[in-house]
Amino acid sequence: MRDVATLLEALPYIREFHGKTVVIKYGGAAMSDPALKEEFARDVVLLKYVGMNPIVVHGGGPEITTFMQRLDLPVEFVEGLRVSDAQTVEIAKMVLVGKVNKDIVLLINRHGQPAVGLCGDDGLLFRATRQASPSGQDIGFVGRIERVHVDLLNHVAEDYIPVVASVGADREGNSYNINADEAAAAVARALSAYKIMFLTDVPGWLRDPNDPTSVISQAHPDLVEASLRSAGSGVDDQGVSGGMRPKLQACLDAIHGGVSGAHIVDGRVPHSLLLELFTDAGQGTKIGATS
Ligand code: ADP
Ligand code: MG
Repeated sequence: MRDVATLLEALPYIREFHGKTVVIKYGGAAMSDPALKEEFARDVVLLKYVGMNPIVVHGGGPEITTFMQRLDLPVEFVEGLRVSDAQTVEIAKMVLVGKVNKDIVLLINRHGQPAVGLCGDDGLLFRATRQASPSGQDIGFVGRIERVHVDLLNHVAEDYIPVVASVGADREGNSYNINADEAAAAVARALSAYKIMFLTDVPGWLRDPNDPTSVISQAHPDLVEASLRSAGSGVDDQGVSGGMRPKLQACLDAIHGGVSGAHIVDGRVPHSLLLELFTDAGQGTKIGATS
């Protein structure tokens, strides 16, 4: 009976989301654990089958780090962003575009919906410019997305599930490493997506980063904004650091760009994506102007 109840609970959500675009930032354990990878691919395919328009944007942080270490190259982060010299960008691009992207495409294909892998260079999908860290430090070839070629994505999404690797180039042809949370937000804004979902390795945005039970299940964008500001000033009441900073900033950018909800969900939990989208209880953190 529980199965039927679950389906019935999902029905209003399926109706609400029909035809809507959902951008999914794929990362963390869901991208490295073989069983979770399969579940993820199946979930994305299911979203397409029920009439949603899923767009996957991915990073590949751990894999980039692994390859860097294999080559004895230093790995450094500033304010949650990877410090990227020319060599780092070269490796990031090889790993993200050549390996991680194609692995995801293959998995989704195998679960019954054809996917197409893209990076910022394909069809001029992204135009990037160099950016400094939030506090102004030089972090090398770390890019910010200036422009997203929306027609290209819409065109591909008509028949395929787009899978986007977060690298891109500027007008002069210099390549940049782009934080995948930022890239996902830029894509969601440009497409006027209905929702953006971030799969990560924590249960959500935590009030206390050391306490996994302290998930903030609903947050108004104003709270996120205030927390990011105080995190930068050292008055760290909400404890936002590391990769959670660009993630929360990406949530804000998406919301300010017209996306109705930004969700941070635990990618270590099988089917967290479906649970967050299609059940009343939800699962992680939902950020939005309305409840
Ligand atoms: P992803 O691959 O999903 O982008 P990141 O490592 O970049 O993962 O960002 C998530 C990390 O941010 C968490 O694993 C955690 O260590 C850190 N973090 C810092 N502050 C918080 C917080 N308040 N709530 C949750 N995570 C936080
Ligand atoms: Mg990150």
